[in-house]
Amino acid sequence: MKKIAIFGSTGSIGASTLAVIERHPDRFTVETLVAHARIDVLLTQIRQFRPRQVGVADPVAADSLRRQLVQTEPDPSLRPEVIDEARALVELAAQDDVDVVVAAIVGTAGLASTWAAVSAGKQVLLANKESLVAAGALMMSAAERTGATIIPIDSEHNAIFQCLPVDTAPTKAVDKLILTASGGPFRTLPAAAFAEITPEAACRHPNWSMGRKISVDSATMMNKGLEVIEAAWLFGMPAARIDVLVHPESIVHSLVQFADGSVLAQMGHPDMRTPIAHALGWPDRIASGVGNLDLRAIGTLCFEAPDLDRFPCLRLAYEALEHGGVAPLTVNAANEIAVAAFLDGRLSFLQIPELIARTRDTVLEAADADYTQPASIADVLALDDRVRSVATATIARITGRGGR
Ligand code: NAD
Ligand code: MG
Repeated sequence: MKKIAIFGSTGSIGASTLAVIERHPDRFTVETLVAHARIDVLLTQIRQFRPRQVGVADPVAADSLRRQLVQTEPDPSLRPEVIDEARALVELAAQDDVDVVVAAIVGTAGLASTWAAVSAGKQVLLANKESLVAAGALMMSAAERTGATIIPIDSEHNAIFQCLPVDTAPTKAVDKLILTASGGPFRTLPAAAFAEITPEAACRHPNWSMGRKISVDSATMMNKGLEVIEAAWLFGMPAARIDVLVHPESIVHSLVQFADGSVLAQMGHPDMRTPIAHALGWPDRIASGVGNLDLRAIGTLCFEAPDLDRFPCLRLAYEALEHGGVAPLTVNAANEIAVAAFLDGRLSFLQIPELIARTRDTVLEAADADYTQPASIADVLALDDRVRSVATATIARITGRGGR
C-alpha cells in the first residue's frame, strides 16, 4: 500500500488524482488532503477517502470544516484532524507515514510543501511546475541529497520521462527534448484581435480542462515557457536543446530525439489521468480510466512552429532560462501577478507580457546583493515577494499612463 498526500486536492489535478486512486483501493490509501478553501468539495473527498489529516490554508474555512465534520460525522474516530497553521500544514508533506506526495497546488503557494516533501526524501509527483521554475537548483540538489524521486505529472514531462532511457543520463544519450504545445485557444487568432481577449475566452482551452491560472498560461503560451524551464531542471538540459512544437490535437505529449536520428514520442488522449496513473503506478502500469487511443478515428496529426511574435511570453521564458540566476523566478512571480490582474479585469491580455518584461528589467537592473541566486528556500520566498511588489507597482504604471 502506498500512502498518499495530495496537496491541492480540490483542484483539477487533485480531482484527477483521486479519480485514479479510486480505481485502486488495493494499492493506495489517502493519508492527507490539503486545499485552500473549497469545503464542500473537501467534505465529499473526506467522506470517500477517509484521510487521517486535512490541511486547509484558509483558517476561516478550516473552522467551518471542523464544525461541519462534527455535525455530519457522529463518530469522532472517523473525523480527520484539520490543520490550518501554515508551518504545520507544510510539514504534512514530510510526515513519516506518507510515501508519496502529489504536489498539485497552483503557483508559488505550492513551493514550501514541495520543498518539504523533497527535503524529506519522498516520492514527489510533481504538477506544481512553478516550484521548479522558481527554485530548480535548490530542489534538484535537495532531491539528490535526500534520495527524493521527482516524477513529473505535467503531461509533457511525463511523456519525456517515459521516453528517456532508464540507465543513461539524459544529457549524454539525448540530442533534444521536444515539448509539444496545443497552441491554446488563440493559436489561429490574428494579432489584431489580441487586444480584445477576455478572461472567459482565455480560460476556454480547446483540449484540456484545467484551473484558471494554467488556462491563462496556456493562452499566452507562458505555460510552455514555464515547461521549458521545468524540463531544463528535471532532465539537466540547456535551453538550446529544448524545442517547442505546436501540435493542436494534443495527442503526442512530447518527444525525445536521439543522436542516431530516432525520435520517441508518447501518445494518448489529452486527459491528465494518464500521466497521473503512470506516475502513481511507476514502475508498474496501472489503469487510469482513460480509453484507448484510436488513431484511425483521429486520422491526422498536425505540427507547426510556435509564433513568438503573437506569443512573446514563450520568448520571455526562454530568455529567462538562458539568463539564469534570478531571471526564471522573476518571470514566474511577475506572471502570477499579471495573470491574477488579467483575470480581475485590471490588465489586458497584451499587457501580460509587457508587465512581465518590465518587471524583469526592473529586477535585473537592480541586480545587487538583494537579487543574487537565492541560497535557501527562505531566500526564494523573500525574493518572490519582492518581485511581486515590483510587479504590482508596475501594473499601476502600465495601466495609469492614460493611453500615452
Ligand atoms: P486548480 O486551480 O484547479 O487547483 C489548485 C489547487 O491548489 C486547489 O486545490 C487549491 O485549493 C489549492 N491551493 C491554492 N492555493 C493554495 C494555498 N495557498 N494553500 C493550499 N492549497 C492551495 O489548479 P490545477 O489546474 O489543478 O493546477 C495545479 C498545478 O498543476 C499548477 O501548478 C499547474 O501548473 C499544474 N498542472 C496542471 C495541469 C492541469 O491539467 N490542470 C496540467 C499540468 C500541470
Ligand atoms: Mg503541461
